[in-house]
Amino acid sequence: MISDVFCKIINGELPAERVFEDDDYLVVKDINPVAPVHWLIMPKKHFEKLDDFGKKDVELLGGALRLADKLAHERGLLKGYRLIINEGEDGGKLVPHLHIHLLGGKRLGQKIVQD
Ligand SMILES: [Zn+2]
Repeated sequence: MISDVFCKIINGELPAERVFEDDDYLVVKDINPVAPVHWLIMPKKHFEKLDDFGKKDVELLGGALRLADKLAHERGLLKGYRLIINEGEDGGKLVPHLHIHLLGGKRLGQKIVQD
């Protein structure tokens, strides 16, 4: 049985500050925010990495992007936001459950990676 931190949050075994939830997705606030708005958008279905999405699941991944945009607009991020997926060790992934970081609430620099 898969029991990463995000699966535990989804199953209610661990607390998190929930921003949005429906049958397919959960959005929570990052516990270590790097911007005024820092949410984690995750499919409830467990995928460890992008390579795990089969053709039938691609819609779920696309839906996460659409949900990000909808929530950003609804919650007042009218001047924009940034989405990031950390993939693998070099990508800085910490939890092995695919999630999308949504950052906003201030003007983010053009530079995505700091040296
Ligand atoms: Zn999981």
